[in-house]
Amino acid sequence: MITADDLPIREDLRGVAAYGAPQMDVAVRLNTNENPHPPGPEVIAAIRDAAAEVAGSLQRYPDRDAVALRTDLAEYLTDETGVELSGEQLWAANGSNEVLSQLMQAFAGPGRSVLGFEPTYSMHSIIARGTGSDYIADARGADFSLSADQACRAVASHRPDVVMLCSPNNPTGTALNIDVIQAVYAEMISTERGVLIVDEAYGEFSKRPSAVSLLAGRPRLVVTRTMSKAFAFAGARVGYFAADPAVIDAVLRVRLPYHLSALTQAAARAALANATILQAGVEALKIERDRIVEVCRALGLRVADSDANFVLFGGLGDQQLVWQQLLDRGVLVRDVGLPGWLRVTAGTTEETTAFLEALTGILSTNESHDQESA
Ligand SMILES: *Cc1c(COP(=O)(O)O)cnc(C)c1O
Repeated sequence: MITADDLPIREDLRGVAAYGAPQMDVAVRLNTNENPHPPGPEVIAAIRDAAAEVAGSLQRYPDRDAVALRTDLAEYLTDETGVELSGEQLWAANGSNEVLSQLMQAFAGPGRSVLGFEPTYSMHSIIARGTGSDYIADARGADFSLSADQACRAVASHRPDVVMLCSPNNPTGTALNIDVIQAVYAEMISTERGVLIVDEAYGEFSKRPSAVSLLAGRPRLVVTRTMSKAFAFAGARVGYFAADPAVIDAVLRVRLPYHLSALTQAAARAALANATILQAGVEALKIERDRIVEVCRALGLRVADSDANFVLFGGLGDQQLVWQQLLDRGVLVRDVGLPGWLRVTAGTTEETTAFLEALTGILSTNESHDQESA
């Protein structure tokens, strides 16, 4: 058996690990931050009708610029954030991962750098490296917070071409105050360098204002969003960003033509027309999230403040052992590689209860449970 490392692969990809959240057949799957509620019959019918309508013209390429979908996304985001937006300020692709990839192709790449604040979403560094960019990992505060001071100092010293902020941040759940985003942007303008990307994949779960409210007069700011999380649409692969139309002009130069299939565009529009139904579960998920925080704290664990649909909990001692013990009880959570910590997604009430009962049982029997070790 040979591996990619035995082939003439790019030097900078030698020994690199691929993204690999386990996809396992487990009763309670709380490891990839999906919305647990499947689409109901109304939404299924709307998607089926929309797909049937475009099926008759699949011999043709789709609308390359996804104009109708971008208009719908602008309308949705205007409703969601209260900020007036038009389709010319929106761009869509196959998941926000593709959106990020297009942005890094245009604004980073060989000889350029991307700055992130760890721990954060692992795909930021993977996409940066995949596009040949240098990835610079700076740190967060002890409680996973990020202050304007700390972020601006990192920007001033590294002078990156792209700065990634993630709010609420994955895997910590912590959100940024809007003044941190403002300060980082101002710092980048003062060094006359770079584009600021704010990843708001979990924006709908947060009580804080969206960075979309900062777009006016800030052409180097990009806010990425996704239909994969709050929207319960992960399987369809639809992500998007809001920014100045000049940013869209930039990604048009690198995107693959017809990147977003006619079926995807149609399904996404049908889902957006049913946004209220699809997002009905969001409030319930916040309640489950807060219940996880409360129970974990009562168990004596450390818990990061969460504005998202997941919770990072620590003080576990050997987190790999606890991960396995949860799996043995039919509950799959995420080991994000932070010693002593695990991340769990808020599920349905039943799933969340199953997780909390399993965790409580494990901690009460584990000799290795050490509240001080994290
Ligand atoms: C899940 C997630 C995404 C989303 O990815 P899609 O490609 O839209 O499914 C983006 N950013 C963060 C921080 C995430 O956790």
